[in-house]
Amino acid sequence: CGIVGYVGPQSALDVVVAGLKRLEYRGYDSAGVAVLADGSLAAAKKAGKLVNLEKELVDRPLPTGTTGLGHTRWATHGAPTDANAHPHLDNAGRVAVVHNGIIENFALLRAELEERGHALASETDTEVVAHLLAEEFSVTADLADAMRLVCRRLEGAFTLVAVHADEPDVVVGARRNSPLVVGVGEGEAFLASDVAAFIAHTRSAIELGQDQVVELRRDGVTVTGFDGRPADVRSYHVDWDASA
Ligand code: GLU
Repeated sequence: CGIVGYVGPQSALDVVVAGLKRLEYRGYDSAGVAVLADGSLAAAKKAGKLVNLEKELVDRPLPTGTTGLGHTRWATHGAPTDANAHPHLDNAGRVAVVHNGIIENFALLRAELEERGHALASETDTEVVAHLLAEEFSVTADLADAMRLVCRRLEGAFTLVAVHADEPDVVVGARRNSPLVVGVGEGEAFLASDVAAFIAHTRSAIELGQDQVVELRRDGVTVTGFDGRPADVRSYHVDWDASA
């Protein structure tokens, strides 16, 4: 339902949780976050309101990192439980992904993954993407490339945002039939399903187009189609007052 991603000098967890709060009005049944810190990935997720996640983060604090993502879920596949909350990780715990929408062909992809020895931990349509990204990354060593390859195999409507522990200063997003906006700051970049999540930090935004993948780094963003071709980006200034 709500998605936030961040790379920059700030605590990713602080930016992401504050962003998720700005998206709470959309409604959701669970929430989760992941951060990259010291070469590894740490995640927390909880059914229920964001306060449940915040309590979990007090009880079991995550290490401080400057790359991260978060999600508020509105369940379509699988009950609203901790296990089904996003982010979803691959078996090695190196990649984390959050998703809005529905992956229509997830059952087939899941069966193929299980045949190749992957153990899936949730009932969601989303989790297949984490495992597929891990497989592709093991070949490409580039998360944006992996995302483009995976997206070409997905059917349905989706916004996806992912991080990989082997690319610690990169956040990758993708969209088909579901909104995703990039916020471009000074030495930092944001991704969100709605500009409300990042306007406290930057008013410079790029709306991703249909079937596009974006790679965020501190020093800039790169947008391509799912086919890897550079895409024209429409950047604009967010001038509405969303301080309320
Ligand atoms: N289909 C996914 C799920 O049920 C994503 C739902 C959403 O858009 O929040 O986990």
